[in-house]
Amino acid sequence: MPTSCPSCKSVRLYRHGMRDQHYVDAPHYGEPAVLLVHRRRWRCQDCSTLFPDPLPAIDEKRRATQRLVRYVRTRSLKYTFAEIGREVGLSDRSIRHIFDDLVRDLDTQFEFVTPRYLGIDEVKLIGKYRCILTNVEANTVYDMLATREMAGLRDYFRTFRNPKAVEVVTADLWNNYAVIAREFFPKALFVADRFHVQRMATNAVEAARKAVRRTLTQKRRIQLKDDRFVLLRHGHSLSPEQMTKLKSWGDQFPLLGAAWEAKERFFACWNTKSRAVAARELDAWAGSVTSDVRPYFAELLTAWSRRRDDILNYFDCPVTNAYTESINRLAKSINRMGRGYTLEVVRAKMLYDTNALEKGTMTRRVAVPVPDDDLGGLGMGKMGYARPERPTARQRLRYQTEFVYLGAHIPTLCDKLESGAFE
Ligand SMILES: [Zn+2]
Repeated sequence: MPTSCPSCKSVRLYRHGMRDQHYVDAPHYGEPAVLLVHRRRWRCQDCSTLFPDPLPAIDEKRRATQRLVRYVRTRSLKYTFAEIGREVGLSDRSIRHIFDDLVRDLDTQFEFVTPRYLGIDEVKLIGKYRCILTNVEANTVYDMLATREMAGLRDYFRTFRNPKAVEVVTADLWNNYAVIAREFFPKALFVADRFHVQRMATNAVEAARKAVRRTLTQKRRIQLKDDRFVLLRHGHSLSPEQMTKLKSWGDQFPLLGAAWEAKERFFACWNTKSRAVAARELDAWAGSVTSDVRPYFAELLTAWSRRRDDILNYFDCPVTNAYTESINRLAKSINRMGRGYTLEVVRAKMLYDTNALEKGTMTRRVAVPVPDDDLGGLGMGKMGYARPERPTARQRLRYQTEFVYLGAHIPTLCDKLESGAFE
């Protein structure tokens, strides 16, 4: 029974009949369940507000029991909204709302630390390119965005926490990322991802191969397709037999030989730790690309002339191979998660996977001064008193453990993805 009016706090209440209300409950014995509740209603004498008896354990907003909401939350990362909806007797939309609240709670509970080295990568998932933001140093996923288009990126980065903590942004040469870095991280160093730059050289050889293939008979085409990897591989990793194959293609089609050599010379420019040496060698390389293969290297040559500094910044701040490898692995395996889920679900499954999250969590001990008036004993309600003041000589320190969330550890995620844990 209510003791006062919810809107004016008056205690002059009158009974105002009964009403039957339905509340969806968690399934009983595998069947959707609905509770029928006879609820008394009250009218306030002073402001005439009409209201029902208070009901504990009910989520009024949803006309459901709190037990049902908990049930849906635990299942919403494992099953599709339609499946859960059928199971409990609610619409997909209602399930989605409960899921959205869950994600909001998770986002608050595990606030990831802003990366010092922010990686921007993309993966194709559920039919579109999605942005994956990573903490390069920790090898974790920081967040996942629905789009890599400008408007969506700007919306997201406008509310990015603590952007000044980002010292380096590393991304491929997609222009939007350079614009974002300039607008939102003006003081950060932009490093063009080496892997993407080098892939342009490999793509150039592939384009030359396709041009040659068009001139061949069916049988020879198949042969060239089979030998494709010989052309794309690094020269130093080829066996003598593969080298012979390569030489034979080069003799028959000088274009192929020239493209392969240009690619190899490009890769060789990266074998230095010095920015100045790399700049000199890459300039020499760009000048040496002969006119027959130039069209195939056009993308790379343009990138070198337009994004020279971004490319050279790699030599001041090399991103590790371990990171590059794990992000490539993630791009390959993440598609196993796509089936039947919305992007929001994929994001939450990935970011808040227990194992990946745990691997991406550090603990640290922080010293907190014990407030002067607290020295006599622990007063109730002062337990978590953690005002970060500079300790004075007189003050004692108390240590407490803090969790620092760095994101979802990428290799752990990949292991789970590849073992089918998310399917
Ligand atoms: Zn009232």
